[in-house]
Amino acid sequence: AGKIEFRDVHFSYDPNRKILKGVSFEVPAGKTVAIVGPSGAGKSTISRLLFRFYDIQDGQVLIDDQDVRDVTQESLRASIGMVPQDTVLFNDTIAYNIRYGRIDASEEDVRKAAELAQIGPFIERLPDGYRSMVGERGLKLSGGEKQRVAIARTILKAPPILILDEATSALDSHTEQEIQAALDLVSQGRTTIVIAHRLSTVITADEIIVLKDGQIAERGTHADLLRKH
Ligand code: ADP
Ligand code: ADP
Repeated sequence: AGKIEFRDVHFSYDPNRKILKGVSFEVPAGKTVAIVGPSGAGKSTISRLLFRFYDIQDGQVLIDDQDVRDVTQESLRASIGMVPQDTVLFNDTIAYNIRYGRIDASEEDVRKAAELAQIGPFIERLPDGYRSMVGERGLKLSGGEKQRVAIARTILKAPPILILDEATSALDSHTEQEIQAALDLVSQGRTTIVIAHRLSTVITADEIIVLKDGQIAERGTHADLLRKH
């Protein structure tokens, strides 16, 4: 389960400016589609439409042949896992932040997810900006570490659909490779949309869509796209 379909989707945040101008693509259940393109092209907008944060003006967004307008927010949130560019953490321990979305998970599973995402050592701490009842200050996390919390959360949640929005953008290249391996592991057998700036980070995607100015400019496998250039 988890097939995603965009059918001739037209979308604008405000009436004066079209953001998506007839975008159509399909992600078969269990496959990975990468969306690459310049900043402002509309890539993140696509992920927001899957969650139905906004309604489209024309076309259809379908999950398992069902229009997202007919699916509850609750069910969308349960079936889609997202690693965003910018992770906002709750005022609670990092372990709690990982557990969010799967509150029934065992401590052992939380620890395993944290280890895979390489944030194992400090999961009992609070994130930065917060202070515990006993006055202990929250731990200052870098952008990359926050992303790893989001990755651990997604590993634990193991949803049928994954959206990785520049999921390794805040990581240094060494950590990026290791996290990429963890992400490849979680995306196995799950329907995955990877949003990326560079083609080089999405070599293994089943299909790559190049989005430019709200339209699909090119599509194909990594090898197809290299051949054309
Ligand atoms: P990308 O992910 O490809 O960088 P986005 O989908 O984030 O692009 O944004 C596409 C365009 O929509 C950009 O020009 C951006 O400024 C605009 N945009 C994004 N979010 C909003 C919003 N909430 N309201 C109005 N315009 C927005
Ligand atoms: P790290 O030490 O893990 O490399 P930094 O906080 O130094 O992380 O940020 C590295 C890069 O990531 C910078 O370009 C920064 O703009 C960007 N960045 C910072 N915080 C975030 C975040 N929460 N999500 C995504 N990118 C971020």
